[in-house]
Amino acid sequence: MSSRMLHQAALDQLRSGFTGTLLAPGDPSYEETRHVFNAMIDRSPAMIALPGNEAEVAKAIAYGRREDLEIAVRGGGHSVAGNSASDGLVIDLRHMNTAAVDPEARTVRVGGGATMADLDGATQPYGLATTGGRVSSTGVGGFVLGGGSGWLERAFGLACDNLLAAEMVTADGDLVRATGHTHGELFWALHGGGGNFGVVTSLTLRLHPLPALTAALLLWPPQAGPEVTRAYRDFMAAAPDQVGGGLIYLTAPDEPFVPTELVGKLVCMVLITYTGPEAQAREVMAPMLGLGHAGEMIAQLPYAQLQSMLDDPPGYRNYWSAEHLDAFPDEAVDEFCARAADMIVPSPSQHVLFPEGGAVARDADLYPLPWRHAPWTVHPFGLWDDPADDARGKQWARALRSDLKPWASGSVYLNFIGQEGADRVVAGFGQDNYRRLAEVKAHYDPGNVFHHNHNIRPAT
Ligand SMILES: Cc1cc2nc3c(=O)[nH]c(=O)nc-3n(C[C@H](O)[C@H](O)[C@H](O)COP(=O)(O)OP(=O)(O)OC[C@H]3O[C@@H](n4cnc5c(N)ncnc54)[C@H](O)[C@@H]3O)c2cc1C
Repeated sequence: MSSRMLHQAALDQLRSGFTGTLLAPGDPSYEETRHVFNAMIDRSPAMIALPGNEAEVAKAIAYGRREDLEIAVRGGGHSVAGNSASDGLVIDLRHMNTAAVDPEARTVRVGGGATMADLDGATQPYGLATTGGRVSSTGVGGFVLGGGSGWLERAFGLACDNLLAAEMVTADGDLVRATGHTHGELFWALHGGGGNFGVVTSLTLRLHPLPALTAALLLWPPQAGPEVTRAYRDFMAAAPDQVGGGLIYLTAPDEPFVPTELVGKLVCMVLITYTGPEAQAREVMAPMLGLGHAGEMIAQLPYAQLQSMLDDPPGYRNYWSAEHLDAFPDEAVDEFCARAADMIVPSPSQHVLFPEGGAVARDADLYPLPWRHAPWTVHPFGLWDDPADDARGKQWARALRSDLKPWASGSVYLNFIGQEGADRVVAGFGQDNYRRLAEVKAHYDPGNVFHHNHNIRPAT
């Protein structure tokens, strides 16, 4: 639909008293605003509404419904599935990005369009932190509502475990506040159910003291991968909850700690994070340091700095997927390592193994995310430039999934995948949780107005 087909009277009604921004095709900044992180997604919304407050969110929803426009809600625009893009109406929350810290209560209240950079930038000065995504431009909204996996998760739980309250505008334009005491079923559903239930305009998150944080990057040439991965698996099995991180095959960056002969080549990297000072971290990670690596960077650093260390620029073509493993025996290690050879190199792609356990697995049944029971997550995270590489990039990610199937739990973290069909959405929650979520959906959005997401269909 083009802007000319929008009804003038309805537009005038939307514009009246709207202090935010409304962008139609041809308007200055429309082009840069419509793009999302994944360059494979190319939508031209008839209207982009950037509300400044809850009332304007409600107004935009009413407009979209009245005009029968497909509504997508955008937080940080990082959904690989393109769930925050639409050719109809995009309600873009980026102007609602405040982050207010209450240091005494150890909480932060962030706007529904805040990014990790907004969140971490606000909490860092207080020496407080919560589990955040591993890239600073990811939206807090889509990240937390989908579960939220990050470097601190084994110490502090998933991001959604730290969600204390959420304010949400429903499809009918009502503002509701979900906490442990009010709108209890919605509160439960917002811990992983994504943007299915309405537009979340604020999230209140628990903060944790983080006086010191250490990060280590250790590098090996790819042929050492199987041995390193076995050692890493055994190291993590005994590691305290303060240890986070992952094992990642990637293209070695041109950084001082990378030996010249490895720059631009496929390498196996272990990233270890430790919620404590460097001296303690070195003791804890001694088994990995003893392996004899080719390059290292170990430093105590501010959390907000770690959070932006792996930032990727937008504009790449993206394809990702995930499997969660109940076991990771030597045979699975060999399959995982062998498939790294198919990754597009050089590129920003990552062939990732995340350890779970710790606080991720504790109270795992409180919320609707069964994947968190699995001790390992395998996450092919593909980014490349050239459309001619699309088939190759997708094939690598799909093949890795299928190689690891014998050990897969069958459930999946939906924030780590694109559009993989309705069955995978059910697998994201499990049958029983899905049914319960569908009841919540029927209560708050019976007409499935908010279906640009990993969609939970309203119970009938
Ligand atoms: C480079 C990169 C790194 C990433 N790293 C991690 C990581 O470390 N850990 C992790 O768990 N995930 C990670 N992700 C995945 C990320 O968590 C999901 O893509 C998440 O959905 C992004 O949220 P967003 O707000 O940026 O996305 P958007 O594309 O804006 O939104 C994603 C979905 O959430 C909905 N949504 C967003 N905000 C709101 C809101 N306020 N109210 C209602 N619905 C909303 C949208 O409608 C859409 O359905 C990463 C993604 C990228 C691109």
